[in-house]
Amino acid sequence: MEDPIVYLSVDGHAEMLPLSEARVPVLDRGFIFGDGIYEVVPVYQGVPFRLAQHLTRLARSLAAVGITNPFDTDGWKARVAELIASFGAPDQLVYMQVTRGVAKRAHAFPKTATPTVFLMSSPLALPGADVRERGLAAVTAQDNRWLRCDIKSISLLGNVLMAENAAAHGVAETIMFRDGLLTEGSSSNAWVVKHGVLYAPPKNERILEGIRYGLIAELAATHGLQFEIRPISEDEVAEADEILLSSATKEVVPVVRLDGRAVGAGVPGPVYQRLYGWYQDAKAESLRAALPSASVAG
Ligand code: PMP
Repeated sequence: MEDPIVYLSVDGHAEMLPLSEARVPVLDRGFIFGDGIYEVVPVYQGVPFRLAQHLTRLARSLAAVGITNPFDTDGWKARVAELIASFGAPDQLVYMQVTRGVAKRAHAFPKTATPTVFLMSSPLALPGADVRERGLAAVTAQDNRWLRCDIKSISLLGNVLMAENAAAHGVAETIMFRDGLLTEGSSSNAWVVKHGVLYAPPKNERILEGIRYGLIAELAATHGLQFEIRPISEDEVAEADEILLSSATKEVVPVVRLDGRAVGAGVPGPVYQRLYGWYQDAKAESLRAALPSASVAG
C-alpha cells in the first residue's frame, strides 16, 4: 500500500511499476507547461463510481485542448480495472492524467509527441462523522482563475492558491465569486439552499461541471427536491439557509460557517441531510448493478 503499483506510458512505452520507481522526462509538457488533463474517480468496494461520466469528461477536456485521447472507453476501463485490482483496497481514489507528451520546449503544439499517460490509486478518505454532524467552515475570495474552468486542466495554480488561502484561514475551502456571482470552490462545486430550494450556478466556462453536479441534479429530480440552475449573487450566498460543496472526495458536505459567520442555523441543514442519504443510496445502487450477487448494504 505504501508503494502502490501505477500505470505509466511515456513515448508509447507502457508499464505497471511501483510509484517510487515511476519517472517522467523533464521535457514532458505536463512538467514544463502544465499542458495536460486529469480526472479523479472514487472507487467503492472495488467498483469505480460513475466511471462512464468521468471518461466522457476526460474525452471532452482532451478534445478542448487538442490532445489525442490515448484510449477508447474500453481501453480506459481495462486499465482502470487493472489498477484497482493491483491496489487492492476496497475504497480507492483513482487519479488519471494525460499530458501532451515529451518534446523540445516550445509553447505551440509539437508536430509529433505521444501523450504521456499516468494512472495511480490511493486510499479514499471520505469526510468523517464529525464533518457530517458539525459541518465545515469556508472563506470567500474573488475568482481570479482563467476563463476555461470547464476544462479539467492540470494547470491548477489558481486553484492551488485558493486552496492555500483556505488553509491559511484554517478552513476547509475557498468559495469563489466572479463579477459578483458564485462560481465554485477551489476543488469542489458549490450549492446554495434557500427556502427549501436547491440552487446551482450555470454550467459554463467559469466552473468545472463536476460529476457530482450531474449526480446531485439527478437526485434532486428523482426525489422531487426543488432545484434551479441560475446565477447566484454574493448576497444570496451570504443569506443562504444552507451551503453545500460536492466533489469526488467530499461527496457532499455542509458549510456551516462562511467568512466567520454562521450559515443559516450554523448546523448541517435538512437539504444536506437528504442529499447525503440519497448519495449513499446511489452508491449502493451502483454496487448492486455492478455486483448483482453481492449483498450491499444501503
Ligand atoms: N470544481 C473544481 C474546480 C474541482 O477541482 C472539482 C473536483 N474535481 C469539482 C468542481 C467537482 O468535480 P467532481 O464532482 O467531478 O469531483
